[in-house]
Amino acid sequence: MQQMLEKTAERLCVAVTSDWPKTAMNSIELSVTTGFDGASGYVNPQQKFYDEENDDRSPYQSLFVCGALIIQLKSLSNPKYLWNNPTPQSYRFFRPLKIAHQKEDNEMALEEYNRLGEEIKHLKPFKFTMGKGVTVMVEFSVSRTLFDGKNVNAIVGNKATQRCPMCLITSHNFNNQNVFIPKEGSLSHGLGLLHCEIKIFDHLLHIAYKQEVKVWDVTKNIKESVDLYAGQVRDRLYNAFKIRVDQVIQGKGTSNNGNLARKFLDRPKDFANALDIDEELVCNLATITKVYRSALEIEVEELKKFSDFTYKLHYIKYPWARMNPSMHKILQHGPDIVRQFPMPVAFYAEDALESMHKIHRETIREHSRRNSRENAILDTFNRAVYLSDPILSMVYLDRRREMHKKRPLTNDITRFLKPGQWTDPEDRSNED
Ligand SMILES: [Zn+2]
Repeated sequence: MQQMLEKTAERLCVAVTSDWPKTAMNSIELSVTTGFDGASGYVNPQQKFYDEENDDRSPYQSLFVCGALIIQLKSLSNPKYLWNNPTPQSYRFFRPLKIAHQKEDNEMALEEYNRLGEEIKHLKPFKFTMGKGVTVMVEFSVSRTLFDGKNVNAIVGNKATQRCPMCLITSHNFNNQNVFIPKEGSLSHGLGLLHCEIKIFDHLLHIAYKQEVKVWDVTKNIKESVDLYAGQVRDRLYNAFKIRVDQVIQGKGTSNNGNLARKFLDRPKDFANALDIDEELVCNLATITKVYRSALEIEVEELKKFSDFTYKLHYIKYPWARMNPSMHKILQHGPDIVRQFPMPVAFYAEDALESMHKIHRETIREHSRRNSRENAILDTFNRAVYLSDPILSMVYLDRRREMHKKRPLTNDITRFLKPGQWTDPEDRSNED
């Protein structure tokens, strides 16, 4: 981690501080957030490596990915000078720390979490000289938030998946209490925004599927009618959005992912209409996810009131439905999680880490040597290094920014955001 952060700091300083004065360079802080994720399905049964001694390729089916997402570069001597990651959801600023053919389980997740903690504890400030003889001193600020629900459960030791990892209350009791007090330290693992979006989407689908029978646990005698109705809901969604949802992919669950969930939550009225469920509930949930996605500072108290209201609304409209822990987490603990971090939670989301799996699959398939497993994984790591190189990424982003204009914020979400909190580099006055 030390070496990767040093290299990152050096390259990022070259990429983004060309207009910073010398005095701002004395002392700089690089903030990143780390985490890990495993995925399966990496093996192509057709592909044989020259050094393979037997046909057992099962160890290579899983790839464990650990890395650091760049959040911010800030001058500590002159805090007016700062640079925020313009695309925190993109792999362009996701620096690899470790990849391994290793199957992810609870024990390993905890071990890796602690290993990251040890490395963070031993990080040292880094001093280097830039062009024109400017000496730069960089300190590192490292969080650990890039986790899905499964890994957070492993880290906090929550063995029941139907239990909230923050307050340890089970989903059966989400409707019976008014206060959910998080266990100490549990909020520092971040929101897991991407997975919350997917889980909210899933939950709304299931309310729609089951609203005829008004029973959450589908037993044998009602399964047929629920399945039939679910088919009709999926058809209505397809007619409205031209997207097929809940397609089963063998060995991988369903086709529902973050992109798909966002496409529906971007048009909440049409989504509610196609699901034939309460429009206010769907719109509120869509608003809440958009507020968290925004890179602006959040009006936490406003959002808390709105989230509490939405939580109650859910159980008033659908008392028979059982919220999943991720949806409970974003509504009940989201505002408190926001308070844990100096930057908006959008900067701590796990999208970039998730998209690395796609990149690595592509690398293993097309951009790595086939002569040995070791070379293949080395090439995979190295490609992740240069794909996330700050200088190259900035060039790439500048080109893309010319093609895409930013979408303006809409009124429904601006009431939860503090305006003008972030210094936009373009707007910075030229005083020195
Ligand atoms: Zn909870």
